[in-house]
Amino acid sequence: MEFELEVRTAVEAVRQASRLCREVRATLVTDETVAKKDKSPVTIADYGAQALVSLVLGKAFPQDPIVGEESADELRENVTMRERVLACAHSQRTDVTEEQVLGAIDRCTHAGGPTGRFWTVDPIDGTKGFLRNEQYAVALALIVDGEVKLGVLGCPNLSVSSDGSGEAGALFVAVRGQGASVQPLEGGSPVPVRVSGRTEAGEAIVCESVESGHSSHSDSARIADLLGIRQAPRRLDSQAKYAVVGRGEADIYLRLPTIAGYQEKIWDHAAGAILIEEAGGTVTDVRGKPLDFSQGRTLAANTGVVATNGPLHAEVVRVVQEVLAPKLSEGG
Ligand code: AMP
Ligand code: MG
Repeated sequence: MEFELEVRTAVEAVRQASRLCREVRATLVTDETVAKKDKSPVTIADYGAQALVSLVLGKAFPQDPIVGEESADELRENVTMRERVLACAHSQRTDVTEEQVLGAIDRCTHAGGPTGRFWTVDPIDGTKGFLRNEQYAVALALIVDGEVKLGVLGCPNLSVSSDGSGEAGALFVAVRGQGASVQPLEGGSPVPVRVSGRTEAGEAIVCESVESGHSSHSDSARIADLLGIRQAPRRLDSQAKYAVVGRGEADIYLRLPTIAGYQEKIWDHAAGAILIEEAGGTVTDVRGKPLDFSQGRTLAANTGVVATNGPLHAEVVRVVQEVLAPKLSEGG
């Protein structure tokens, strides 16, 4: 099977990073840090998790560049933060030096683009959900010549089974042409996932960001109205939204621009998008254009995201365009 070593390596990387995130969430996020809006636990877990992913990838694929959000510049200047990140990396593996950790973080500054092979990582996607102890994800994807080839999504607070029973902690794997599956985050047999077969838009379940600054809640409410959707939207942070549509728990994921000209980041979508596609669904932007991962670090050629189970896609995109028409014509 193509990409076998890549899948094994990416799963190991996401598992290590997810464990680190859980550990930081349990030990460093307190009522006090939340009350003070102290972001340092997020920063520490962000750097620590990115370092672990980069170390695991770097060992198996030393030639592969990585596109990630963080560089180690701030850490090189801030001794306290550096020590905390190192302690947190050492909680997962004791065999790495400070320079290796900083170097691993610094490896993630690749520019992306249309040719060659690179990884993209979001060490904690949905930082607000991480702080609230709700949904967040560790997202890792491999892009070759502008196309996402594999995605691994670790969701430490999402249950393995779609009915909400079973242990918390789900890991999703999708490989181009090979389907998508879910397994317990800490290991177990993968089970294939499949989007819903829903064809009646009125009965659909929509999911969207918790944060109205990341996706317009007022526009999605108008869209849901026009589609005759009765159920309130399911709001969750991170690419867990792609996961719940991918396994048929919801039917539609809307990400509607809040700021004209905002460019979505590739690490916020690559792993999730391939998951839905390999589960049988469809992912485009608000105009119905496929997401273009060849543009660099952002989805510069796209606006927002519409992801569905497939059968609902054309109707949803039509209504999205109708509602967003005034904004889209302003060049948003
Ligand atoms: P979510 O958890 O789905 O709300 O998305 C979290 C992601 O939203 C973060 O990783 C950010 O990269 C991204 N983000 C930040 N600002 C915006 C914005 N104005 N529009 C869309 N996404 C954003
Ligand atoms: Mg993110």
